[in-house]
Amino acid sequence: MNRPERIIFATGNKDKLREIREILAGFDIPVLSLKDAGIHTDIAENGSTFEENALIKTRSVWEISGGLVLSDDSGLEIAALNKEPGVLSARYMGEDTSYHVKNNELIRRLEGVPNEKRTARFVCAVAAKFPDGEERVVRGVMEGIIGYEEKGENGFGYDPIFILPKYGKTTAELPPEIKNEESHRGKALRLMRKEIEDYIK
Ligand code: IMP
Repeated sequence: MNRPERIIFATGNKDKLREIREILAGFDIPVLSLKDAGIHTDIAENGSTFEENALIKTRSVWEISGGLVLSDDSGLEIAALNKEPGVLSARYMGEDTSYHVKNNELIRRLEGVPNEKRTARFVCAVAAKFPDGEERVVRGVMEGIIGYEEKGENGFGYDPIFILPKYGKTTAELPPEIKNEESHRGKALRLMRKEIEDYIK
């Protein structure tokens, strides 16, 4: 049995932390943010895939803290835009540009593109580095299509333009429980929960 005393989730984002705490609650191992763990580090996310970026974050925190470290990297890939904004989702059009502006620019770039070619996916990679240095990475995906206008007030980022065909609604119109069930991040975190169960058994 290889049970870590704590899990550090390499993020400052409260929503991500709440979600991972809910999903990992059954382990009875405290989940700490970087701030909770007293770690201050500036990490350059310069990988070319979600998996690389998640691993970069995980490794640089693990070098400082050891133990079990998790992190995630996520974004939106739009097929007709050659998978843009992709790993640059947070930085697309500049980190300080509002999502209202980013979303409307993506809609504008898809002008004239018919429904069947408006496919897109949210991707989330979650990486873990365990106390003995072993690394594991998993990926969760949510497939959808890009709408013609922003809709809904829930969620964040690109949610108001991302339509889940199963519900005919954007992920900003769906209640958070449904989004968590369907989402790239929810799926990746549940896969990671299995990896951790496998490691500590
Ligand atoms: P990061 O994973 O913190 O690097 O951020 C990824 C970026 O992708 C976010 O800032 C959002 O722009 C976008 N993104 C990732 N997941 C979602 C989601 O569930 N809804 C809307 N936008 C998302």
